[in-house]
Amino acid sequence: MTVTVAGAAPKFGALFESPRMLVDGQWVESVSGAVSDVVDPGTGEVITQVAAGDETDVDAAVRAALRAFEEQRWSGLSGQQRAGVLWRAADLIEANADELAALESLDVGMPVPLARGFIGEAVNQFRYFAGWADKIHGRSLEIGPADRRFHAYTSKEPIGVAGMIVPWNAPAYAASMKLAPALAAGCSCVLKPSEETPLTALAIGSLLLEAGVPEGVVNVVTGFGPTVGAPLVAHDCVHKVSFTGSTQVGKEVVRAATGNLKKLSLELGGKSAMVVLPDVEVSQVVAELAGAIFMNTGQICTAGSRLYVHREVFDEVVEGVAEVARSLKIGYGADPSVDLGPLVSARHLDRVGEYVRGGIADGARVVCGGSRIGDRGYFFEPTVLADVDQSMRVVREEIFGPVLCAQPFTDVDEAVAKANDTEFGLAASVWTRDVASAHSIARRLRAGRVGINVHRAGGVQMPVGGYDQSGWGRECGPEAVEEYLETKSVLTLLDR
Ligand code: NAD
Repeated sequence: MTVTVAGAAPKFGALFESPRMLVDGQWVESVSGAVSDVVDPGTGEVITQVAAGDETDVDAAVRAALRAFEEQRWSGLSGQQRAGVLWRAADLIEANADELAALESLDVGMPVPLARGFIGEAVNQFRYFAGWADKIHGRSLEIGPADRRFHAYTSKEPIGVAGMIVPWNAPAYAASMKLAPALAAGCSCVLKPSEETPLTALAIGSLLLEAGVPEGVVNVVTGFGPTVGAPLVAHDCVHKVSFTGSTQVGKEVVRAATGNLKKLSLELGGKSAMVVLPDVEVSQVVAELAGAIFMNTGQICTAGSRLYVHREVFDEVVEGVAEVARSLKIGYGADPSVDLGPLVSARHLDRVGEYVRGGIADGARVVCGGSRIGDRGYFFEPTVLADVDQSMRVVREEIFGPVLCAQPFTDVDEAVAKANDTEFGLAASVWTRDVASAHSIARRLRAGRVGINVHRAGGVQMPVGGYDQSGWGRECGPEAVEEYLETKSVLTLLDR
């Protein structure tokens, strides 16, 4: 069985002819021979199989990464040399963007143009962090009391072997957000993609080899969380783990990392608030508000899933968002006219449906949507729920689907209190024409990223990450490189 994507001679076709993963520069089967199915969420049909690794495969990949690191195959190159390779990787991803987007669309279900956008973001990651590779340096310091003076300096060193675990919602982009800064820093990497969507991680692994990343420096081990993710996190030769996924699994990662107290960064769940003041031009904001929750069928960690609207404009805004939702075309990701694809899996479809039914049972009113579409593939209607309150599960828990919960507020203090009344703190937005109110509310919102009159903001230059249970650390921006570095202090006594 082979995945099929557009193009007469697909670049990555051979990668999926048999289930193999990337260990020590070689394409190998899992040691046990186990495989797992990859399902097209638009049809529910199996499109291919990938290797299902386990602890043995993880150990081989980690040891390969450690050897590469100790032999300084990558960390020993100059920053400019690493930059050159990362820039070539960006060029290769860009040159193969159409095929990568087709693969991503097939695997995740997302519309091809959206997948193309995410691949473009992956290119941006490699270009931006290529630029950082030769700008990593420490400081020089003059220290010591008058009678004992030292010349001292700090140097920045790659942390070592970095384990990387990513989810299924934007797989190539999520992998690039880790690989690019880690490689810029000089680390060796073991990447574990989601069992739901492993295809583009393998393709990017092959492009990194082609770009000139030495063997063993990037390894991609496919398989399940408990059998690949958990042993990777627990492995004593891994110096750092960067995890993106749910808060629940993030907590398991924290517990499993204690063996060698490896460094961790965690990009976890969200339940992001959008606060709309009464002075907005409703017709100008509803499409953006709808896009903030429904893009990628709500499967975006920063999705604006809680909407707080001033009472004066509540009905108008909610009806406006619902109208946009009703107008969205939902269908198979490869159809160029489609706005939203399916949810990623049957399990996730059940989960989203259960949340919506639970919300209705708790008293929520369905303004639009609320149901599965058809019985083939995992399609779900974009849904707006009103008459909800802060105690309901649909308001408190991350659904990670196309479900918006709308509540009115009377004054700004109430809106800020409700927006902050969550265990998460990933993103938020405030919508108003009043500049002072916008910045003062932005300051009060507990979130790693706040948009003003925009929710889906971003760019590789801007750090992203969470307050509270949305995670530890930051991706993107200079902060991301720091996550893969250690600081060493060296001092010399000057008086001898
Ligand atoms: P998940 O937590 O179920 O899985 C994420 C990854 O962890 C997968 O690769 C999975 O195989 C692996 N995993 C599972 N159990 C593991 C274990 N015990 N040890 C190690 N690894 C394990 O999340 P998901 O369903 O794949 O993705 C959706 C979640 O990801 C949502 O909560 C979403 O908010 C979050 N997310 C966060 C960000 C961010 O930047 N903060 C971005 C995208 C997605």
